[in-house]
Amino acid sequence: MSAVPVSLGRAGDGPALPSPRPPTAPRQFHVLAKPTGPICNLDCTYCFFLSKEALYPGDRFRMGDDVLEQYVRQLLEAHRGASLVTIAWQGGEPTLMGVDFFRRAIELAESLKQPGQQLEHTIQTNGTLLTDEWCALLAEHRFLVGISIDGPPELHDAYRVDKRGEPTSAKVLRGLELLKAHGVDWNVLCTVHAANQHQPLEVYRWLRDELGATHVQLIPIVERDNGTGFQEGDRVTERSVDPEAWGTFLVTVFDEWLAHDVGRVFVPHFDAALASWVGAPASLCIFAETCGDAVALEHNGDLYSCDHFVEPAHLLGNLRETHLVDLLGSPQQRAFGAAKRDALPRQCLECDVRFACHGECPKNRFTAATDGDPHLNYLCPGYLAFFHHVDGPMRLMADLLRQGRYADEIGEVFARAPRNEPCPCGSGRKAKHCHGR
Ligand code: SF4
Ligand code: SF4
Repeated sequence: MSAVPVSLGRAGDGPALPSPRPPTAPRQFHVLAKPTGPICNLDCTYCFFLSKEALYPGDRFRMGDDVLEQYVRQLLEAHRGASLVTIAWQGGEPTLMGVDFFRRAIELAESLKQPGQQLEHTIQTNGTLLTDEWCALLAEHRFLVGISIDGPPELHDAYRVDKRGEPTSAKVLRGLELLKAHGVDWNVLCTVHAANQHQPLEVYRWLRDELGATHVQLIPIVERDNGTGFQEGDRVTERSVDPEAWGTFLVTVFDEWLAHDVGRVFVPHFDAALASWVGAPASLCIFAETCGDAVALEHNGDLYSCDHFVEPAHLLGNLRETHLVDLLGSPQQRAFGAAKRDALPRQCLECDVRFACHGECPKNRFTAATDGDPHLNYLCPGYLAFFHHVDGPMRLMADLLRQGRYADEIGEVFARAPRNEPCPCGSGRKAKHCHGR
């Protein structure tokens, strides 16, 4: 590790950890820190952050050392008693801060961590600025690096372009090769949108087979067409994923995953669904009954209710004035989290897959339900199709887990099924026409 000077002088000037801890403050929470705010070296056409520059007119959008110190100190204090603390960076494009900023962040965290705490570093990046120097640092500190790739170059480059409108896939893949060469842990964040929504197998197989991805996070692009970048209005841009296509995408990838990849490739949507079928807490906030435990930190210390609600109405306060724990436990943030459950339309309340869906993310709730309630999730048709489709296999995998076995044994269950008997998945079809193929 290089010796980058770290000043701890101003860290003690900030707000103190409240004692006693507010009972409303969650013990488990996640902060996404955005050291460059919305600033990015690329200009992906669907990116909801680029328009957020208007929130801080004239700002340089660089996290200063004072905010960095407050953030790291408060994060570690807030996790007192926890054995693992995740320090997560994203953007914008966080690598624009340069390697030395992250060296300082790591040194700070190492010097401020509490007895018994281990640090886990994560960073979400477009990968285009990665160098050997970057990758050596990421490898040394065992960062988990999320790389944004939307599939093969012709699909990725549809919207993921640079400031001149030029394709970026070659630079992203070069960055990924560097990560691999340095042995850095990486995973893929793949957005699904109008340009790749009809190629689920092509996208998934390319990520799995060409890149060797073992962790594929799928994110539907739902981009409001209102010119503000905020969560307002009920129209979406033509780049947004179609709800039915999103469902078909998930269903198609799920079938491929079920046939070949259970226990081998991690797809958060599928793991979250399995958790719901087991009766465990949802592992994705979008499928939890309430939210509010995943906040976003702007470059200047402003804390927002969620990464998807970085807008004035959801500003909780600033870390330089109020401790992170107080902001997380504030009535405003608790109300934000509870509203996810309390504002569900009747259609969701009566839905047979509500236990798994919970109306998905509030940011996508802007279409009319059957009774006219305007707060149904835009992606509802897709999720309804997906959760109904996975019901049989999910029941089987949940049974395996309850028996103390492994979910990936489902392949053997299907393989052993008599070909002319009903498929164990419960579809009603003969096994030879279903999963016993
Ligand atoms: S608003 Fe959506 S993304 Fe944010 S925490 Fe809630 S469910 Fe998650
Ligand atoms: S599938 Fe649709 S109706 Fe059912 S809980 Fe989800 S959003 Fe609501």
